[in-house]
This record gives sequence, structure tokens and C-alpha cells, in this order.
Amino acid sequence: MHLTVLRKKHSMDPRLAEVFKNQLQEQRAALLAQLASLRGGTIGRAEASADHFQHPEDPRAQVDVERDLEFTLDARESAELDAIDAALKRTADGTYGVCIDCGVDIPAARLHAAPETARCLSCQDKFEHTHRA
Ligand SMILES: [Zn+2]
Repeated sequence: MHLTVLRKKHSMDPRLAEVFKNQLQEQRAALLAQLASLRGGTIGRAEASADHFQHPEDPRAQVDVERDLEFTLDARESAELDAIDAALKRTADGTYGVCIDCGVDIPAARLHAAPETARCLSCQDKFEHTHRA
């Protein structure tokens, strides 16, 4: 795996980013396992494990996982997966923990509560107001 820690970018402590990355991978695996059991289907443990993230900088590796799933996701589930995948990509490119809208650092407490968070609180508020279903 490439080390992204040496990149000069506005980003959080790489060791902290690594913690969140692991948290995201666990969350993703747990979500997939939960969805599979909800549908009475099965995903092999290998499918749902973090093995698929040996090359997080290669987006195709993640797309393959989705293609392998033997069930379809509803909109909310796939939005949740998308959010996790997008957050994992940000850990790979060194922009994790920075609000995707305004660029401020997202407080670590907020990330701990929801590691897939892409926006600071005020941008999230704005986003939810303008994208209410
Ligand atoms: Zn923001």
C-alpha cells in the first residue's frame, strides 16, 4: 500500500486518519453483513472483510465488491455505503476530516460519532435543508 502520509496537504494527523479508516472499514463490513442477513442471503466472510481494501487508492477494487453483491440496496442503504466509500477514498487521498463544502477541519468528536461524515455541522445543516427528500 502506498503511504499517503508524506503528501503535503491540508489534512489531519495520518495516524488519526488511519484510526478512522479502520473504523470505516469495520463499519462497511458490518453494514454489508447486516444487509445480507436481512435479506437471508449470505456474503462470504472474505467478501465483507477488510481484505478488499488492500488497495484503497484503486477505486475499481471497491466497485468490484458492489458488483459481487447478490442483492440490491435500497436508496438509503446505498447512500450509507456511498458515504462510507467516499470517506474511505478521502482517507486514501489525504483529504479526510476536512469539510467537502467549506474546507474547515471537522471536529474529531464528530468524526468519532460518524466517521463517514463529509461535512462540518453548519454545512451538513445547509445540505439537509436544501436536499430534503
Ligand atoms: Zn463546512
